Amino acid sequence: MQCKSAGIKRVSFTGGEPFLHPEFLNKISALAVKNKMLFGRVITNGVWYKSDKILNSTLTKLFKAGYDGDICVSADAFHAQNIKKVAAFIRRAISVWRRPDIVSIVWVGGSREKETKVKLRKILSSLKGLPVKTVKIALSPIGERMTRITNPWGDKWFKEDYCKGPGNALFVLPDGDVKPCCGYATDQAGLTIGNIKNDSAKKIISTAGRNDFVRAVFTVGLSGIRKRLERLGILFPGKTENHCFFCHHLLTKVPKDLLKKALLIAIFFIALALHTGADAAELKKSDGYQGIPIKVVRKISLPKWYHEGLLIDGSSIWVANGKKGNTWVVDIESGKITSEMESPAGFTEAMVKIDGGKYLVTDWDDKKLYEVVFDGKKIASKKSVLDFAPSHPAGLVSIDGRLLVILWTRGLGTKFEIIELDKDLKETERIAIKDIQEPAQMAWDGKNLWITGWYNRRVYRVDPKNWEVTASFRAPFTKVTGIAWDGKYLWVTGTYADLYQIELSKLSEPSKPEPGVNTGC
Ligand code: SF4
Repeated sequence: MQCKSAGIKRVSFTGGEPFLHPEFLNKISALAVKNKMLFGRVITNGVWYKSDKILNSTLTKLFKAGYDGDICVSADAFHAQNIKKVAAFIRRAISVWRRPDIVSIVWVGGSREKETKVKLRKILSSLKGLPVKTVKIALSPIGERMTRITNPWGDKWFKEDYCKGPGNALFVLPDGDVKPCCGYATDQAGLTIGNIKNDSAKKIISTAGRNDFVRAVFTVGLSGIRKRLERLGILFPGKTENHCFFCHHLLTKVPKDLLKKALLIAIFFIALALHTGADAAELKKSDGYQGIPIKVVRKISLPKWYHEGLLIDGSSIWVANGKKGNTWVVDIESGKITSEMESPAGFTEAMVKIDGGKYLVTDWDDKKLYEVVFDGKKIASKKSVLDFAPSHPAGLVSIDGRLLVILWTRGLGTKFEIIELDKDLKETERIAIKDIQEPAQMAWDGKNLWITGWYNRRVYRVDPKNWEVTASFRAPFTKVTGIAWDGKYLWVTGTYADLYQIELSKLSEPSKPEPGVNTGC
């Protein structure tokens, strides 16, 4: 699999209708599993099947091929679907994967919303309380006819996201052309980065890195390009909240020479930033790196949400949740959630306690560090004390007055770093994370730093004196996130996992596995 060796980690399927060629889905899914790749989503109309028998056998084969990503059903007023058939598809998928959260419904907003909402209500009511999420996406206002349905220009600019949703993907069109995203503007030649009939995955990725437009969109962002164009005297007809419409506008309406000039200025600043960071410290595996045998001492069941950072506070463990979830306070002895606190922002990543009953909280969506005071379940006060934009903060840990924060910076290949902040929240060091894919959360055991790797379910031990990864163990679940040290054991959880108390074996002792021991491989 060329994509795997070129650094691609996830496989998604969209169409047309991917289920029209189930053999292709199964074959690619099995190959992806064999190559230890992850799955994103398969997007379907949910009504492609001719009978319940075909539906059941097609989904079962895909399940057996190892597909464990999400399934998104496109359902709105623009899709003429039989509602009962959509509901039957969703119910069957949930029962085959035995995962109530496997399916979400994606609908296009911005036009015919009333009809869509009636349809969605009918689908949800036939699902009788199954927890299926609905996700709204913007109508593409591209093309003469569409600009008559919805005016894409308004009075508000889009929030920069470096194409977080549709971007950072190799999107293959029916003619074999490859784009760096599945956004609405992908019909534009400026976004073509190769063709699968002629180019290897490696070549396509390297072409993307050399395409000035693609490189600028994923590094300085569309807003960075916009500001540079405005300085060059370009006026836009208004503001727009739709990234891909703006991208299309840039590629079709802005004079080519001015766009090129703006991109060159943007790329100069990228190169400068990369050069200045060239001597930064790096977190890499040590020569003596080894696996740690572990034993699960205890497991506490957690309700499903989007579990993130853990914080040990006396006899309780706090479990932060992303996606607007509350933070749960779990009593360690009883294993019960005794109270919940509202989320300071939209996507709480991690929290640490500081003096004066205050907490520092990282928020992924806002890209900020908040100082928060809780009053029981409510937030008594909250102020933003640091803005990490354009990076997203994840894990946060306090070590002897220093604060370490994991940052993810989207671009062509996401950059992972740890920044060290002093007591005045001034950056004192920046460490590039080389050998941990998708680092999530951190804990400090008094000697070593522990970092969870969301991508490959490993938990890494890091010596912060030289930033060397000295050992790791394999978590007993996928998508590992939160981690905390209680003085004797590590506690870990995952996005959808329970809370595990883990005993670490001493590496100096001969590692003779006991029954129930995960050998860390
Ligand atoms: S804004 Fe452009 S590059 Fe980004 S996802 Fe949309 S079409 Fe793709």
